[in-house]
Amino acid sequence: MKLVFATNNKHKLQEVKEIVGDKFEILSLNDIDCHDDIPETADTLQGNALIKARYIYEKYNVNCFADDTGLEVEALGGEPGVYSARYAGENCNSQANMEKLLHNLTGINNRNAQFRTVIALIIDGEENLFNGIVKGCISNVKMGEAGFGYDPIFIPEGFSESFAQMGSETKNSISHRYLATKQLNEYLKEKYG
Ligand code: IMP
Repeated sequence: MKLVFATNNKHKLQEVKEIVGDKFEILSLNDIDCHDDIPETADTLQGNALIKARYIYEKYNVNCFADDTGLEVEALGGEPGVYSARYAGENCNSQANMEKLLHNLTGINNRNAQFRTVIALIIDGEENLFNGIVKGCISNVKMGEAGFGYDPIFIPEGFSESFAQMGSETKNSISHRYLATKQLNEYLKEKYG
């Protein structure tokens, strides 16, 4: 079966292909000639994942899935959450986002946070959602250079290193995206063998 993943991010595609790819042919937006800027206007991760998946399903009539990820900080009521990419403003970079987050947590002892990925899958019109969560905490300062986004300030539970300090292999074996993709894979295996 062909499944369109509503992304052109090469790393995400590679990761998904490694987990799901032997039974399903995973296509990117480029592969189906979709170059649209799909709006992400919902105020929840699942809302945005569904908007993207429904857009592709309705316009191209193909089975597909889409993802959305956010960093949810307990002491900030779940912020930045769905606004993680643009926490410090439209077109801001990761450094500005991390600075803002560290600033907003100044003097706050509760550093609990989690990364959450939601995947919305649509097959023959039937919608399903999968959640991948990795719990952890926000460090006081940036630690490490690798990775992207909030990696230098997120320490996953059970570790003393940030996502940016551990190797990508370790990160990718415990990450929110990995856990959501594994759930997607299990569902597909159970339903479509
Ligand atoms: P997206 O939905 O995958 O585009 O993720 C939205 C935003 O969440 C990104 O722009 C990053 O700021 C942040 N983010 C997502 N995944 C990660 C991760 O694995 N590490 C650090 N930041 C992430």
